Amino acid sequence: MELKCTVQTYAWGKCGEKSIIAKLKQSTDADFVIDKEKTYAELWMGTHENGPSYLKDKDMPLQTYIQENPDVLGSDVVQTFGTNLPFLFKVLSINKALSIQVHPNKEKAEELHQLYPDVYKDSNHKPEMAIAVSSFEALCGFRPVEEIKEYLEYIPELCAVVGKENAENLSSANLSKANSTPSHHLQQCFYSLMDCDPGKVAKQLQKLIVRLQKTDSHHKQWAHADLLNRLHSDYPGDVGCFTIYLFNYVSLMPGQAMYIGPNVPHAYISGDCVECMACSDNVIRAGLTPKPKDVKTLIEVLSFEQSSVEMINPSWEDNHTQVFRPPVSEFAVARICVPNNSLELSHDISQAYTLRPRNSASILLIIHGGIKTKTSNKIFSEGNVLFIPANNEVDIDILSNPTLMFQAFSNV
Ligand SMILES: [Zn+2]
Repeated sequence: MELKCTVQTYAWGKCGEKSIIAKLKQSTDADFVIDKEKTYAELWMGTHENGPSYLKDKDMPLQTYIQENPDVLGSDVVQTFGTNLPFLFKVLSINKALSIQVHPNKEKAEELHQLYPDVYKDSNHKPEMAIAVSSFEALCGFRPVEEIKEYLEYIPELCAVVGKENAENLSSANLSKANSTPSHHLQQCFYSLMDCDPGKVAKQLQKLIVRLQKTDSHHKQWAHADLLNRLHSDYPGDVGCFTIYLFNYVSLMPGQAMYIGPNVPHAYISGDCVECMACSDNVIRAGLTPKPKDVKTLIEVLSFEQSSVEMINPSWEDNHTQVFRPPVSEFAVARICVPNNSLELSHDISQAYTLRPRNSASILLIIHGGIKTKTSNKIFSEGNVLFIPANNEVDIDILSNPTLMFQAFSNV
């Protein structure tokens, strides 16, 4: 069943035709005209009330259809999550960094929603996984403490906004003392950075940028001068620019995936990706944003554990399909590329393929190429989004080489 999906025009999205969202939408929606001035940031595929999808032929919200026909979800999904689609599937096209954010765990999400229903409208948690479609950059989780110490030692402007005493305490942190662990002192450093007077932050940032311009290329690379300049030109004076020295910098190649669990700070910086998450829009923001920040809540929930980025290695289901399974039951994503082997490239002959039955309802997005369904003889191409009920095996012909699709389903 074909879906009509919502586009979100947030300010950080790519502009006009540069956005993959605008292109996907244009190729399937005759009424959609690309506005050169508009930023097309996200395509939402699912039932979330802030951007619901519709069944095209029935002209009905997908949510209504599911409520009336809960069997389409699959019995395992209904048993675990009730009669709601438990995931939200998205495409993101990023021109400039998204806000530094963290998503609370389920317990905290419920608490925040009860206390501040106007700010935290959603009571669900929001673990998420991004799979790169183009080269993709992000900040995610705290760096190993040794790296942070090094930045504090050699970047006096960073030290000035974090506070000399906090920086020294982190340097001499003692693992064996509860009140003197790296995590404890890292929390102090981060809090005083976030709490620092904005005028002082802006001044130190300016100073750092000017100083880095005069240093050699090795030092520039070590200090991520290029990234700093990009962030600073998009968000001048924003405290978030300094967080590149506290958070891990990640660069993903197309087809690579990262997972972001509860309480892990992160910010996507650039590139296109598909993203899947628990059906939620629950965000606590702290920087690189004109939107309201909530530093107090952020500090409260933030995980100060230093860790490397959690990459999700896919498993192959067959020659064409890789499945990315994060450590949560709400969602998993398959990346289907047929043919994916240049030896198979054949002229004019369409290749048959079968989309596996899933024990959950799924949403299929065609990124490149096209398919024809064998039973209904319908043709779908780039930008089409399909809802597939649970336990349906779909025989297709691949119409162009290669055809790249992503399929999101529940990981029950
Ligand atoms: Zn996020």
